Formats: sequence, C-alpha cells, structure tokens
Amino acid sequence: MSKEYKQIMEENIKLTFWGVRGTLPVPGRNTVRYGGNTSCVSLEFSKDNLFIFDAGTGIKELSNYFISEKHALTKATIFISHPHWDHINGLPFFAPLYTKGNEFEICGPSNGDMSMRKLISGQMDGVYFPINIKGFNAAVSFRNLGEERFDIDTIKIQTMFLNHPGKCLGYRLDYGNKSICYVTDNEIYPESSRLYSKNYVNKLADFVSDTDVLIIDCTYTDEEYEEKIGWGHSSVNQVAKLANRTRVKNLYLFHHDPDQTDDDIDNKLKMAQAVLEKRGSSTICIAPKEKESFYI
Ligand SMILES: [Zn+2]
Ligand SMILES: [Zn+2]
Repeated sequence: MSKEYKQIMEENIKLTFWGVRGTLPVPGRNTVRYGGNTSCVSLEFSKDNLFIFDAGTGIKELSNYFISEKHALTKATIFISHPHWDHINGLPFFAPLYTKGNEFEICGPSNGDMSMRKLISGQMDGVYFPINIKGFNAAVSFRNLGEERFDIDTIKIQTMFLNHPGKCLGYRLDYGNKSICYVTDNEIYPESSRLYSKNYVNKLADFVSDTDVLIIDCTYTDEEYEEKIGWGHSSVNQVAKLANRTRVKNLYLFHHDPDQTDDDIDNKLKMAQAVLEKRGSSTICIAPKEKESFYI
C-alpha cells in the first residue's frame, strides 16, 4: 500500500446508518429497503474513536454487527439528541454495555433537573424494563451537555439547541478538514409561518454551514407538513433550502415518518433533489438506507 493511499484510508471517517426512521420502529414489507429501525448513526474515526448518535432501535443492529464481526467494541461515546423514545429505547439492548472492562460515555442534554443519567435510567427502573442501569457491567459515565464546544482527542464538537419540544441538541463535529452535522429532531418553520424566527434559522445556518455531511430531520413532505405544524419536525422543502443556502456538500434525509413506505421515501428524495436542482445547487442529496455506510 502506498504511503499516500494509506494516509487517505487512515483519515477517512466511516459513517453508517443503523436506523433511519423517526417516532416508531416500522418493520414490514413496506419498509424493507430503507429499514424499519429508529434513529442510530455511527462514526468510526481512524485510531479507535467510535461515536454513536442516538440509541433508537437501530443500535441493536450496531450491537449485532460487532458481535457478528467478532470485533470487540470496548469503548465509545454515545451522543443522545434528546430522550424521546425513538432516540433512547434501543440502549438497553446494546450488548457491549454489559461487558466488564468496556468504557462508554453517554452525553446529551439534561432537561430541567433531570440529568442525562436520570433520563436514561428512568426507562430502566425495573417497571418499564427488567434490568436497571446497575446491570451495566461496563464503566458507563454520563455527561450533561448544553450549548457548548469541547474536544475529544483531536475531534472538535459543537452543540446547538434545536427547535423541538423539550431539550434537544444538534451536533457538529470538525475533524481535520472534514465536518459532520447531526441535526434531528428539528422543525424549520417556513418564512410564511407566524412562528418563523429569522434568528433561529440564521443560527442553524451558521451551525451547519459548509459541512461535508448534514444528517437532518426530514420527516414530512411539504403537503404532510401543513397538517403537522408545531410537531417539531421539518419538511423536504425547508431542509433542501437550508442545505443549498449553507453550501452543504452531502445532505442525508433522516428520521422518516412511520406512516411512510419505502416508495414514499423515494418520493421525498426526488422532491428534495428537484428543489436543489431548481436552485442550481451543488449539494448532493441522499436518502440513506439502514446498514448503509459512506466514507467521508
Ligand atoms: Zn424522533
Ligand atoms: Zn423527538
């Protein structure tokens, strides 16, 4: 292997989608192509950094992957956007948490006086789930996040509160000359809405500007959105416009409504691509499938 090629390989970040759905897992014949699991995305950096974004039911697939590859996962940072069920209820099924010697840090926003530890342990209290967090044999630490900037090794992390009921954080990572933004769940009000906030849209635009990867809540078509204003999720048009305006290189449509079939997601992708094309945008738009990987 040439030195140059080796360097490219080493600097690549592997992005994998383990669940692309929002709200509720939807198994069945209408969701086999994109998958039916809820939100979970992983980023594997060179060296041994593994970052996981959200712990919806997709995290079970990630857990199975490491078991099937016989590749022990011993350490990771898990970033939680917010504690709605579709973002946390796969966590108790993430097998590496039960192995002694492993180390995990779970980061996310506290909500009032509810810390991240309390929010996660609340769903594992013996009533809603038979095992409580004391059953984790791994060393698991929790970190409450607000809007802030911090580093993990040489990876720079930035957070921003999103427009969603409760406290919900978006994440931006900068590593070398690459950047990745994970922005779900989030509602971008259209300019015509009385709820529209120019300040918020400008702040979000700054947060995601010029990123290589924007993984974003695109729950509804524009027509569906009209019936769901204020539910905390965005429509195709708003997401595509934001990506174009902020010169996003690759836009990943994420967090699909549970009532949408695979064909409906194909249609949302076409709609987003049409908005971008009409604006002469250079943004590439993708609807990632469960277990699909991309190298950044
Ligand atoms: Zn959600
Ligand atoms: Zn939510």
